[in-house]
Parts: sequence; C-alpha cells; structure tokens
Amino acid sequence: MIFLDAAATTPVRREAIEAMWPYLTGQFGNPSSHHGLGETAAAALADAREEVASLLGCLPGEVIFTAGGTEADNLAVKGIALARHAAEPARRRVLISAVEHPAVQESAAYLQRCHGFSVEVVPVDADGRVDPAVFASLLGGGDGATGVRGVHSHNTGIDVALASVMYANNEIGTVQPIAELAAVARAAEVPFHTDAVQAAGWLPIKPGLLGVDALSMSGHKLGAPKGSGVLYLRGRVHAEPLLHGGGQERGARSGTENVAFAVAFAAALRLAEAERPAAAARVAALREAFIAGILHRISGSVLTGHRTERLPSVASFCFPGTSGESVLLELERRSILCSSGSACAAGSDEPSAVLTALGIRSEVAQTAVRFSFSSAITEAELRTAGDAVVGALETIGRLQPGSR
Ligand code: PLP
Repeated sequence: MIFLDAAATTPVRREAIEAMWPYLTGQFGNPSSHHGLGETAAAALADAREEVASLLGCLPGEVIFTAGGTEADNLAVKGIALARHAAEPARRRVLISAVEHPAVQESAAYLQRCHGFSVEVVPVDADGRVDPAVFASLLGGGDGATGVRGVHSHNTGIDVALASVMYANNEIGTVQPIAELAAVARAAEVPFHTDAVQAAGWLPIKPGLLGVDALSMSGHKLGAPKGSGVLYLRGRVHAEPLLHGGGQERGARSGTENVAFAVAFAAALRLAEAERPAAAARVAALREAFIAGILHRISGSVLTGHRTERLPSVASFCFPGTSGESVLLELERRSILCSSGSACAAGSDEPSAVLTALGIRSEVAQTAVRFSFSSAITEAELRTAGDAVVGALETIGRLQPGSR
C-alpha cells in the first residue's frame, strides 16, 4: 500500500507514543490535583506547553491545548470575534477567505446566524491566493471614501472583529502570503487568525515572524494523535471561551487537560520542526517530478493551485473526462490511497467549494484527485504511483492503453 493521503492524517509517531505513554498509565494524575500524582501530570503539561512555546517562539501562556484543529479554529474565529464585538460593539464584520476549511467557514456562519455578524468572503485568484490589496480594501469596508483601514466613523471607526485566512490550503496546497496579509490586518487594527493545520511541519510557523494574532494547528497531521491540537493566541488578544467550567488553560478552555495528548503534540512538533528544512526540500523535489510526470503522461490533466507557492506535500489535479471518485477507486485497486479533495468533503456530491472559488467549472471540479505526501515518501513510491495513475485512467477509458 502506498499512502498518498497525508494531508488527511498521519500515523502517530513512535516517539510521540513513547512520550505520552506514562501519562496514560502510571502517571495518570489530574493536573489540578494537589498531590504528587497530580503535580507530576501538571509538570508534564507545563513542560509540553513550554516546548511548544519555544518551538513557536512565543510565551507558554500563549499556547492553548485543544482537541484538534477544528476546535482551535472554532475558538479563534468565534472566541476572538465575540470578545472583540463585546468590547467594541461597532465591530460586527468578519472576513474569511474563499478557500477556508469548513472549521473556519462554519464558525463564521455560526457568528452570522446566531450573533448577527456580517460575514464577508475575501476572493482568491485562479491559483487560490488572496491579493493583499484586495484584502486591504475589504478591511476598509463601509464608506469606501477612506480606502483601506476602515478609519471612517465613530469611536475607533473599526468595524471588523476578525479576519481569518488559512496559511496553506488542504485541497490544493496553495500557500498564502500570510506575513503580508497579517501586516495589512495589523495596520487596520483587526485581529488576524491563520489556520496553519496543513502548513505546520512544512513551513515556518513562528507566529511572531508571521505577525499573526492567532494560529491553529492539528496534532494528527504531524504524527500526534487525532484529537490533539493547539491554538496560539497572542498575549493581549482575548478569546471568549467555547467551553465553560473549571477554568483550565487559563480560562480559555475548561475541562481536565489531556496531558498525554499535549505531551504527544509537543514531541511530534519538536520532531517535525527539527526535520522540516531537509524534509521540505526533499519532498518538494519529489513533488515536482511527480507533477511533471503526470502533466506529461496524461494529456489534458490540470494541476490545481499555485505552480510554485504550494506545500511541498501536495499535488492536486483535475482529470477532465473522468470522475474523481472513479479514479480513486481504480487507484485503490492498485493499492494507492489518495483523496478526491479534502477528507471532510468526501462522500458529498457537491463539487469542492475551494475549486469552484478558483473559477474551475463544477464538472471539472468533480474530477479532482489530491495526492499528499508524508516526509517518509520515496522516489520509488511516487514512480509506482505515477504508473498507477496512468493505468487507472487507461482502465476507465480516459487514456488509450499503452499510450505512454
Ligand atoms: N483546517 C485544515 C486546513 C485542515 O486540513 C483540517 C483537517 O483536515 C482541519 C482544519 C481540522 O483539523 P482536525 O481534523 O484536527 O479537527
């Protein structure tokens, strides 16, 4: 089996299992307990937080452990927007890009549905990128007379509660100019969140260098367990909690802390960051060869996403004249596992909203196949996969047998 679906999930790394094992067994204490077992758990949690903070170049108090990327996105989008709106009622607008993961999209939709926010979608170009100038003009909002920055009315004059643009897209791999977008938001005094779930492990993720106020990560894309994650929340930015209770995570997320998963997350992120420069360069070179091979061997195939500003780990195509699902089935018969888009949209008949936002016609979007690689991928595996794609398209009649 060749697993080319690493953007959907990854196996838990042995080091992460070994790091968390004691906290699932002998050292099972509750970090809030005032006895030795509890204190051991609290110390492990504090160490994990410090490790993540040092890898992110931030303060330990800026790291919130969550139950995954979806929760981190929800806490950032809902929590920051609600807190900002409570402090400054004129802030009723939320801006998100057209290619966000459902965790961001649906959080914004909830704000609109239940809290009266107005949600505006920042368009992307045909490669899936947000133009910082377009973003700036949308942040300005309202009267348009003052151009960017929204400096146009009463009180502070700012009416945007939050902007959220993902760092790298899960379906097409396009990487956004996050530092530029964050600078635009900062100049407009608008809190800026980025979903870095796919970027982590492949791109630099220090929030201070990116200039973002909030950044989401998910453990299971990095070799930690599913249901582990982190939200970085810059010191002075407040997020209204989603979960109320005992006030854990400095009040940002109540509930007995998942010490084992926090420890595993820190171990996985440490390894990912140590390996990142070499892995990113090696996998990007393999990805280039894979893309070139597919485009050359399969006439009419279309690479989706930006040609160069893309994750090392993602190559996504449309194969007009097929259906993505039939290609997937044929590939699975050949022991190649990949995806027709994001795992979350799998099973739905709707064309991908990400691909349609790029201007791809829905009948072409239905033919999408995403290949995503882990850092362990080899040249031989990708050669086999390339042959399998050609074979699959021959079987479903899209290519002449033996044509290449
Ligand atoms: N954001 C992006 C870009 C993702 O790709 C995913 C998962 O696929 C998520 C958020 C959700 O993360 P999780 O699966 O940890 O809830």
